[in-house]
Amino acid sequence: MSEQIYKDFFEEALNQIREEYAANGREDYFKVWFNLGYVEDTLDTITVSIPSEAMWKLMKKNGSAEEIQNKIDELAGQKITLIPAAKRAMKSEEQPQSQPPQNVPQKVPQKTPLNEEEPKLSNQERFNNANDWLTQEIERRKKIEDGDAGAAAAEEESESLQAGDDYQSYIAQELQKQSQPQKSSGYDEEYQKFLSQEVQKLNTKTSLTNHPMLRDDYTFENFIPGANSQYAYHASQRAAENPGREYNPMLIYGGVGLGKTHLMQAIGNYIFAHNNDARICYISAESFTNEFTYSLQTKTVDKFKKKYRSLDVLLLDDIQFFEGKEATQEELFHTFNEIYDRKGQLVFTCDRPITEIQGITDRLRTRFSRGLNIDLQPPEYETRRAILEQKMNSQGSGKKIPSDVIDYIAQNIQSNVRDLESCMMKMLGYCDLVGQELTIDIARELLKDKIDESAPAGAVTVEAIQQAVAKYYGIKQADIVGKKKNKQYVLPRQIAIYITRDMLREYSLKDIGYEFGGRDHTTILSAIEKITTQMKINPTTEAVVKQLEKDAHDFV
Ligand code: ADP
Ligand code: MG
Repeated sequence: MSEQIYKDFFEEALNQIREEYAANGREDYFKVWFNLGYVEDTLDTITVSIPSEAMWKLMKKNGSAEEIQNKIDELAGQKITLIPAAKRAMKSEEQPQSQPPQNVPQKVPQKTPLNEEEPKLSNQERFNNANDWLTQEIERRKKIEDGDAGAAAAEEESESLQAGDDYQSYIAQELQKQSQPQKSSGYDEEYQKFLSQEVQKLNTKTSLTNHPMLRDDYTFENFIPGANSQYAYHASQRAAENPGREYNPMLIYGGVGLGKTHLMQAIGNYIFAHNNDARICYISAESFTNEFTYSLQTKTVDKFKKKYRSLDVLLLDDIQFFEGKEATQEELFHTFNEIYDRKGQLVFTCDRPITEIQGITDRLRTRFSRGLNIDLQPPEYETRRAILEQKMNSQGSGKKIPSDVIDYIAQNIQSNVRDLESCMMKMLGYCDLVGQELTIDIARELLKDKIDESAPAGAVTVEAIQQAVAKYYGIKQADIVGKKKNKQYVLPRQIAIYITRDMLREYSLKDIGYEFGGRDHTTILSAIEKITTQMKINPTTEAVVKQLEKDAHDFV
């Protein structure tokens, strides 16, 4: 039986690679070339499912197989042999008999004869062309991202269209083969699915409904608004319908995984769908900073300025990254002014209210808070359920997750949508690979590292935190919120403030000030800073804080 020793390494490796690609806006590439699933492992092998043998060959050719291999080796700290198993083969074999005896390393892949001579595929040549075309297309999109839209467009006209035509005729031939079963194409179902997706992509590419920097699934239609996000959702729609005129600039803030990037890109997608000529740029604050620094180093600042200042829509993600980056802030200030004066739309996201960002110039802070500042809160139970249902349906695989499993996830994953999504993907992955009915017991087992059922279910409140801290220090809760400045009250008060900040991320400094006897947000900030420093130099403080964070659950 499989030991599942390396399952986590494998998943983590894929995750890290996905994030690297996503950060460069190349998630499409990742989806096509890293379509792998964990199957089983031995002491020094991992068997992974691959869409088809043909795809695996291409993955070896374009380096994606090597990339995942290296990442796994790096994470596991040793050499591990990857054994590819085509999904179709796996289903018919249903695993067990082909297992190697325990602890005997399975060096030679058994399920796909990769070490054999390459099978003679009559359409190998055209297949390679297709792959080259895909790579070129991705390069072209990257160029657009890098700001070289002119060069990319020219290239598209002269080369890519030609390659695209080849590719289209290649696809047409492949599809024709599918409709003539007696002449088998030699590829399996997964590969054929891949082909038809490519056809779809080609079609949408020519009708220009997708902006190359934006994820096409980050739309308003795919966003489920709940009480937590309704305001942000409707405001984003309004901004998208009247770019530069309604809410400008617009700042969406809130904790991680709550849908800020999704809503921001939905604005971009909407504007682009209604106006193909609009110059829209989506970029993370980090990439913006890197690009600016690079332009300084290479003396191409003028190009940088021209690129950003001439935009119609700037979508700048995670502006908390600008903290302390003065030169970039200076440049952004001018970019902001030029776009704003021309009535271009500016949208920003931030992981906290702008008042809580340190190390940012006042004039930029004023700009950020000039239009509409709006927050996203974690979704409530009903919204969490609705999001899960939508994610299940949008996968299009026709897989149904039982209602009690959806309920189990919706009840237990409360913090953010990204976690909800990853639980759903795990469930769908299970259905895909194992083909066995998913039960609540299996779901519990699969999600045990994400859902700690021994943890108290109720969410912690400020009051519970204050009570836990008061009890620990033997003082009254009233003294925690009160005005007394004696030493025995000040430290507990600061600790309670720190814990509130740490556990209740949705509270702004102002909110916390309000909960702690109407204190000013600067007092709250200095309390947090004091405890943060103390924790760094005094392990006891850290241990006390950790203990009190646990205790707080008992007071809910
Ligand atoms: P953030 O930028 O706030 O960290 P993201 O926008 O990246 O969060 O969202 C994380 C994931 O959750 C994305 O895949 C997004 O599509 C999804 N998501 C977030 N909120 C919703 C929602 N209300 N409805 C549907 N999907 C959502
Ligand atoms: Mg984001």
